[in-house]
Amino acid sequence: MSSVPERLAEVLPVVRDHADRCDAEARFPSESVDALRATGLMGLLVPEEHGGLGADLRTFAETAQTLAGACLSTAMIWAMHGQQVDAVVRHAGPRLAGELLPRIARGGMYLASVTTEPGKGGHLLSADAALTAERHLLHFDRTGPVVTGAAHADGFLITLRAAPDAPAHQVSLVYAAREQTAVEPVGDWNPLGMRGTHSTGIRLKGAVPAGQLVGGEGEFRTVAVDSMVPVGHIAWASCWLGAARSGYQRLVRLLTSRGRPRGIDLASPLTTERLARIRTDLELVSGYLHGVIAEIGQARATGADTADPAVQIHLNTLKIAASELAFGATDRMVQLAGLTLGYQRDSPLGLERLFRDLRSAALNYANDRLLTSNGSLCLLDRGVRLLSAAPAASPASAVDTPVDGPAPGHVSP
Ligand SMILES: Cc1cc2nc3c(=O)[nH]c(=O)nc-3n(C[C@H](O)[C@H](O)[C@H](O)COP(=O)(O)OP(=O)(O)OC[C@H]3O[C@@H](n4cnc5c(N)ncnc54)[C@H](O)[C@@H]3O)c2cc1C
Repeated sequence: MSSVPERLAEVLPVVRDHADRCDAEARFPSESVDALRATGLMGLLVPEEHGGLGADLRTFAETAQTLAGACLSTAMIWAMHGQQVDAVVRHAGPRLAGELLPRIARGGMYLASVTTEPGKGGHLLSADAALTAERHLLHFDRTGPVVTGAAHADGFLITLRAAPDAPAHQVSLVYAAREQTAVEPVGDWNPLGMRGTHSTGIRLKGAVPAGQLVGGEGEFRTVAVDSMVPVGHIAWASCWLGAARSGYQRLVRLLTSRGRPRGIDLASPLTTERLARIRTDLELVSGYLHGVIAEIGQARATGADTADPAVQIHLNTLKIAASELAFGATDRMVQLAGLTLGYQRDSPLGLERLFRDLRSAALNYANDRLLTSNGSLCLLDRGVRLLSAAPAASPASAVDTPVDGPAPGHVSP
């Protein structure tokens, strides 16, 4: 059986070959996703007993980084699918998991995410459209204004208000297969960057049996805190870091090649300072990403609660820092490479697309939301438990952690 790097080696040429055209045409990289399906990589996080590769979060993050070096849009499609898969693995009932996971492992299912909603916007832990129970089925009519790969998804994980009379924060997560829903396109996708994600708007109308709830009724918050937020933030940070690192590799290789542009003086302290600043940003994101992966891995191994304020702060910090530093590093690369090599669309360095793509990082779950949330969480972590290499203390034993724990509205996004 092939290893993950061997499978990746099969996929990467396809991903590279289609990246430019998908960006130019703002179209879904079907060829690349088909290659991911064929090599079993869509089932990377599916446990082996369901036919998947049973990989851990570190392998997931490394794979996302490598894919992002070839095409950030393809990497984000794949990584966000992985985020949905993790939610199914950890929170679907045995019957739904038994049905879905082998199909995902075989490459027969790309799972899209529907959490953003008109009106409430990006806010993850609330929903407007509600589920209505009728004759053993849960009915829904839900618009998703930004759904990555909506036109190509085989199934959707959708957040919905638990019932018509439920408050906005009582949210259920529902799995709906494409054939269980009428999918109507809403709007177009013509953004500055991340064009290959083809994140169009859709309206989904359908009905599913109650067994297709992922997590308990009205308990999406538990799924979000345990799975969607940790895996989502690790996925995004990995993709952004992988893309920025790959741009930096191309830049450094060019500068150290025989054909290096004579206009860039490697002996100038201005050049070396810029190179060092970019490297510093990438090192910081990489170090923090590995720290968070270790913390979440430890929490999963010991059953520690990821709702702990310090853990939530670390997860949000990862997303904020990775989005800002990866984009900042790219901006510096453009400045260092100059107009012809850095800014032109057809430059072999490919920094122009990278710059456009990474501009979305701070918006893809608004950093404003995470920063305001983190500010409130900081008041609950009076011990100021910074991310460390040491195993995370359990919330009960953490120094100076308030006994009442985080308020529901304060968790993450
Ligand atoms: C490439 C890409 C792919 C995506 N894929 C998906 C997908 O598959 N599924 C999905 O559901 N969503 C997806 N999204 C949407 C994403 O998850 C966010 O919901 C979306 O980017 C947020 O958009 P927004 O800034 O309009 O909304 P909001 O987050 O609602 O923010 C609206 C405005 O309010 C501001 N704001 C936020 N908090 C505060 C505050 N406290 N005070 C003042 N102002 C504040 C924000 O800065 C922003 O200007 C994707 C986004 C991108 C970029």
